[in-house]
Order: sequence, then C-alpha cells, then structure tokens
Amino acid sequence: MSQCIFCQMVAGTIKPAVVHEDELTLAFRDINPQAPVHVLVIPKAHVANLNELPADAPGLATALFETVKRVAALEGIAESGYRTVVNCLGDAGQAVDHLHLHVLGGRRLHWPPG
Ligand code: IMP
Repeated sequence: MSQCIFCQMVAGTIKPAVVHEDELTLAFRDINPQAPVHVLVIPKAHVANLNELPADAPGLATALFETVKRVAALEGIAESGYRTVVNCLGDAGQAVDHLHLHVLGGRRLHWPPG
C-alpha cells in the first residue's frame, strides 16, 4: 500500500472530512485550519508536487481548479473572496508530497504571505 497519506485518503483507508469528490479530484478539510475555511484539493492520482503535474493531462489542471471553484461555492466564500495556494518543495514549505491546492477563506487574508 502507498505510504502517501493523501493516497490513503483517496483509497479510503484514512477518512478525511470530505467536502467534494469526483472522478479526478478529492477535496477535504485541512486538519490544522489557518482560516475559517481551509480545504485541500488534490488529484486522486499521485502527483508529488506542481512540477510533476503531467503536461499531457491538461484536463487534470482544469479539474483541480473546477473543484476549487466548487468548494468556494459550497463553503459560501465564492462571493466574499478566497485564496488558493500551492506550496511546491522546500522553500515553500511543502510538507506533504502529494500535490494539493489550499483553499482559504472566511476572513480577511493578509498579503504577502510569510
Ligand atoms: P503543505 O505545507 O502545503 O504541504 O500543506 C500540507 C497540509 O496538509 C497542512 O496544511 C496540513 O495541516 C495538512 N494535513 C496534513 N495531514 C493531514 C490530514 O491527515 N488531514 C487533513 N489535512 C492534513
């Protein structure tokens, strides 16, 4: 079995708080939320980080952003505004080596991030 914690969520052996699921993507609540709404959107297929997103699968990038938009609507932050963040590798502080898009909202967010 994969050691990747997010792959285990896709497989159902670890059960996150799911917000949305479709054929290509899964969205679930971050275990350590940094805002009133903090949801992670992942591809179901294992992609280690943004650099590894396959160029020959443009539909996957579209699917991920469609899920971000759906999460924002479901969580009631589509109109007030929200932020989508992808941390890629060390300097960005990527802690889980499975591509994930953070969806943050529900409060005024600061800029620039730290
Ligand atoms: P990163 O720093 O961009 O890699 O973010 C990883 C995120 O995954 C962090 O915000 C963590 O709180 C979150 N996370 C880690 N383990 C779990 C979990 O088991 N369930 C939900 N979120 C998790």
